Amino acid sequence: MMQKAIYLKKGKDESLRRFHPWVFSGAIYRTEGDLQEGDVVRVFAADNSFIALGHWQIGSIAVRVLSFDDRTIDTSFYEERIAVALQTRIAIGVADCPTNNTYRLIHGEGDNLPGLVIDMYGETAVMQAHSVGMHVDRQLIAEALKNVMGEKLKSIYYKSETTLPFKAGLGQENGFLFGHATEDVAVENGLKFHIDWLKGQKTGFFVDQRDNRSLLERYSKGRSVLNMFCYTGGFSVYSMRGEAKLVHSVDSSAKAVDLVNANIELNFPGDTRHKAYAADAFKFLEEMGDQYDLIILDPPAFAKHRDALPRALKGYTKINQKAFEKIQPGGILFTFSCSQAVSKDEFRRAVFTAAAIAKRKVRILHQLHQPADHPINIYHPEGEYLKGLVVYVE
Ligand code: SAH
Repeated sequence: MMQKAIYLKKGKDESLRRFHPWVFSGAIYRTEGDLQEGDVVRVFAADNSFIALGHWQIGSIAVRVLSFDDRTIDTSFYEERIAVALQTRIAIGVADCPTNNTYRLIHGEGDNLPGLVIDMYGETAVMQAHSVGMHVDRQLIAEALKNVMGEKLKSIYYKSETTLPFKAGLGQENGFLFGHATEDVAVENGLKFHIDWLKGQKTGFFVDQRDNRSLLERYSKGRSVLNMFCYTGGFSVYSMRGEAKLVHSVDSSAKAVDLVNANIELNFPGDTRHKAYAADAFKFLEEMGDQYDLIILDPPAFAKHRDALPRALKGYTKINQKAFEKIQPGGILFTFSCSQAVSKDEFRRAVFTAAAIAKRKVRILHQLHQPADHPINIYHPEGEYLKGLVVYVE
């Protein structure tokens, strides 16, 4: 049988030689064998030397590299990668930790497994494929995950309905690859959260804000907090523990409002400091009073692609401007962007513009980013997506 391979145009092997894990379709000179989406293909330079192997897919990113060594992609390959990832999570203190059982185990390129995300919620793993290859390999990966996690793992929920390219026509469905629905409460830094991994956004929870929530907790004492775009209310629950005077959570989704109420009740039953509102952010910010002196703005990605950038920056400027106009003197704003297409500098400029329009004196206290269980492969700077600023408003 003819091998499945691609040969690159002359000079197009340079980024791969620097371990960048993607092959763009424009770099390909010719293909060999009957390539199907999701196949493992070997990648050769123009001089026929082997460079890498990875998952083939139709689209601008044609190959996502799995290995720069010529090897077989089987259960033991995935076991090795997952074991390294788990070791890292233990080393940074988020796994095997009595007060925390919620963490990202596999973060795509950051764990040398492009296209794969696995979040751990206690004894449940939620797995997402962002590439056809990872979808095809899902059983291998589930097997490997079971072998590495052993007794610690009771179920694996596969959730790729919305993350896979629709046109690939894979007919993918969400469902359990192993075990079944179990206890749906996850623990993050000693706080409890109901996780709806079956229907919730992403894998059910925004694991990536853990460290930033902790920082918020430290600044909450005695403050009136507005948590805008609250979703499951992560920031709200932390600021309650941080002894905020009052906490208001806002999200346009009524389901999110139910979730945040449930999570507050789970941690602080009967506590009347908290209220949640189903409302549009722009409208709420426009109409609210000036009672808040700690505001969190953690919107969804305003720019999914570079071409949406100008509109996205306007959106960031607008919501931050509203927050600056209303926040109490001596107030603190936690403001975020999770758009990969928006750079740290562009985001900072949007916040700068907002402050200038609102004519407030603003100083940056912290520059925030994604936590250590969302590592950035140094050869893949595109993996940096979450950025935030904590600013003090006079
Ligand atoms: N801060 C959250 C994650 C936010 S995700 C956390 O720490 O978990 C973004 C949220 O913004 C989603 O829950 C979505 O329902 C909400 N959202 C999207 N557009 C909105 C709008 N125009 N007004 C208010 N909320 C909105």
